[in-house]
Amino acid sequence: MKRRDFFMAAGLGGLAVGTQGLSSCASGPKLYGESNFNINKGYQFIPKLKLSKDRIIKETVGLRPFRPSGPRIEKEIIGNKTIIHNYGHGGSGWSLSWGTGNLARNLVKETSEKKIALLGSGTVGIATATLLQESGYEVTIYTKDVPPNVTSNLATGTWSPASRVCDKTKSTPEFEKKWENACRFSFNRMQMMLGLDDIVHWGDEYLVHREISNRTDGNGGGEIFHLPGLAPEWKELSKKDHPFNAELVRKRSNMLFNIPSYLNFHLNNFLLRGGKLKIQEIKSVEDIDALPEKVVVNCMGLGAKPVFNDEELMPISGQLACLVPQTEVNYKLATKGAYFITRKDGIYLGGSGIEGSWDTTPNRELSEKWVDVLSDLMKDMKG
Ligand SMILES: Cc1cc2nc3c(=O)[nH]c(=O)nc-3n(C[C@H](O)[C@H](O)[C@H](O)COP(=O)(O)OP(=O)(O)OC[C@H]3O[C@@H](n4cnc5c(N)ncnc54)[C@H](O)[C@@H]3O)c2cc1C
Repeated sequence: MKRRDFFMAAGLGGLAVGTQGLSSCASGPKLYGESNFNINKGYQFIPKLKLSKDRIIKETVGLRPFRPSGPRIEKEIIGNKTIIHNYGHGGSGWSLSWGTGNLARNLVKETSEKKIALLGSGTVGIATATLLQESGYEVTIYTKDVPPNVTSNLATGTWSPASRVCDKTKSTPEFEKKWENACRFSFNRMQMMLGLDDIVHWGDEYLVHREISNRTDGNGGGEIFHLPGLAPEWKELSKKDHPFNAELVRKRSNMLFNIPSYLNFHLNNFLLRGGKLKIQEIKSVEDIDALPEKVVVNCMGLGAKPVFNDEELMPISGQLACLVPQTEVNYKLATKGAYFITRKDGIYLGGSGIEGSWDTTPNRELSEKWVDVLSDLMKDMKG
């Protein structure tokens, strides 16, 4: 069979033509995508948001549990109880939940107990309880509230493992090692959730700088560490490849969490596999002393502050405004002054963080300002 006939028989006629073109090209090799197979002509179509103030259907303020030295993952002996702390994840609790849950599980494994009490059922508590159960522990969750009445339900829901995770000036090499370990474990675990009832998925994320001087980091939360090679990196788009009226546009793929169904999915699985859950508020260490289990894993988030007198732990409040869902919009975007994320349960606008604020009353003016900032951007978009 002649060379050309072979390519045709194999259905690769076009490739053969491309190969000839490649070998005859005097100015050096060209990638196929650049010339012969150029499918991506012009800018990518990006659907616009329907933005108006009357489309705001919900406003929430969540309190990020922040510790300047980073999340507390350590063992403490109080009386005859072994307490394993796992709280204080700041703006990265969703992202790091499985990783710090694994670190807490390793500390539990240092004990000989098989019956474990776990305090709290936010994203950190649910992930940690699941991991312990997978390792054969009998876990009972004691919690004041369950989803949707937990801080975790008030998050944006994106992979942001270093957002407000600590104050960089207080961070130690030991903490950074723990963070990296947690980050890698969580990332890998979350890839196993892809396709499961749509609780985790990957989507496009844009950073739009209308003026170069008006830069934003994307999450409004300052990603203070970066682990290269884990997730796709930001790429700068040339003007012809995006529809925005902006000086600098970056794009990457990022993981997004479908918050309401994610928490339900994992909590239901925990219960289906024989885990127990009791609604009970822990007001003091005496309440912990009264629990039947000797090993207690503390995943109470900000709730740990009064019980364990943690002076470092403080809130960083964050408001979100939820707009009527738009199923055709499936990307995240951040610009100076506002960001949005598209979820099944709505389009979430955000961008605030007030250190030390315990106030959970939404500020309507702020939500409307975000609508204005993003309307302005959409108005100038091509298409
Ligand atoms: C606006 C906003 C956006 C965010 N966006 C992201 C994001 O995109 N990605 C990300 O990774 N993170 C994000 N975060 C951070 C993330 O939401 C938190 O880090 C995370 O929810 C903390 O989870 P948790 O389980 O420790 O706490 P919580 O969700 O607060 O859960 C604590 C649990 O402990 C229980 N509890 C508390 N006190 C007691 C008590 N005394 N007795 C018994 N039970 C008690 C509660 O009822 C609850 O069940 C965001 C946060 C906010 C506010």
